[in-house]
Amino acid sequence: MNLSSIYAYITLELIQHNFVSNYKVVRHRQQHQTSRTTVIPTVLFGCALLRNETRIAFCWLMKTFRSLMKKAPKTILTDQDPWMKEATSKELSSTKHSFCIWHITSKFSSWFNAILRGEYAKWCSDFYELYKLETREDFEHQWPQVVARYNLQSNKHVTGLYEIRNYWALAYLCDYFFGGMTTTGRSESINAFIKRFINSHTSLSDFVKQVDVAIDDIKQKEEHDIVSAKCKGSNAKFMSHLQEQAHSVLTPFSFQKFQEEFERFAQYSIDHENDNVLRFYKDINSRKHEVFWDGKIATCSCKHFEFWGVLCRHILSIFIHKDCHEIPSNYLPSWFMVVSSSTN
Ligand SMILES: [Zn+2]
Repeated sequence: MNLSSIYAYITLELIQHNFVSNYKVVRHRQQHQTSRTTVIPTVLFGCALLRNETRIAFCWLMKTFRSLMKKAPKTILTDQDPWMKEATSKELSSTKHSFCIWHITSKFSSWFNAILRGEYAKWCSDFYELYKLETREDFEHQWPQVVARYNLQSNKHVTGLYEIRNYWALAYLCDYFFGGMTTTGRSESINAFIKRFINSHTSLSDFVKQVDVAIDDIKQKEEHDIVSAKCKGSNAKFMSHLQEQAHSVLTPFSFQKFQEEFERFAQYSIDHENDNVLRFYKDINSRKHEVFWDGKIATCSCKHFEFWGVLCRHILSIFIHKDCHEIPSNYLPSWFMVVSSSTN
């Protein structure tokens, strides 16, 4: 039997409108994010024991997950299993599906090393540049150029990668909220953790009990982290009101991501004042980022906020430049905010 778990980031819409038990799950995550760490706790919505990995089994899995959650997730990240792809498309047709980039690139050595030889490392580097392009136009423009550079136009793996580009290229994913995730490492580590508690002789009833034990183990670790964080306290000093505001409302994880962006805003200079075009100050030829800011709405060509849920360094740079000292509330997503005492 195979243990298969589903993890999905449920977006604001679902959090606001879903049923009470789901809300409690979300609060549980937020309340446990008290330690200053880059690791965001995983919320286990459910797990399923499948006899085999077939289209029918995965369809049942997706349908059951949607039924339990009362709504399809906005996004889902899986490996490249063709049955999983088909089942997701059928049962979660409104969900944006992406493939784990680690699973894809882990095959590169067997696909390209022998034919590219000395150029293999350069191809990997160029592929990475294609992978992180910000716009679909840039991707469509640059893909054929890079592929031709390595004479891979008729390579079946390259053709296959292009056919599924909207499942892995960030230009096709960054409009959707994935909490910044591009790999399934998080769910696989949970799978590995649960498998430590079971083996091929474990009965079904014992399996359920052991999963309970495993989840209790995770909870105990979270509680330990809470106590540890409370002991440390917070004496942080901030240079900007934007940081103070973010610190007061965001969960520790999201504040840490905010800080990573804020600390880099000064690395950008404004090229065109009227259009808010920024470029990295060290390199005149660096990629430029366009920020729109009308005093209420802020968007950036990098789509960091849409993908991560945290404002990017480019928008923060414009905020500072335009003397905006307060983050508009629509850029402080509720799933990244600390639960106030009134809702406890
Ligand atoms: Zn940006």
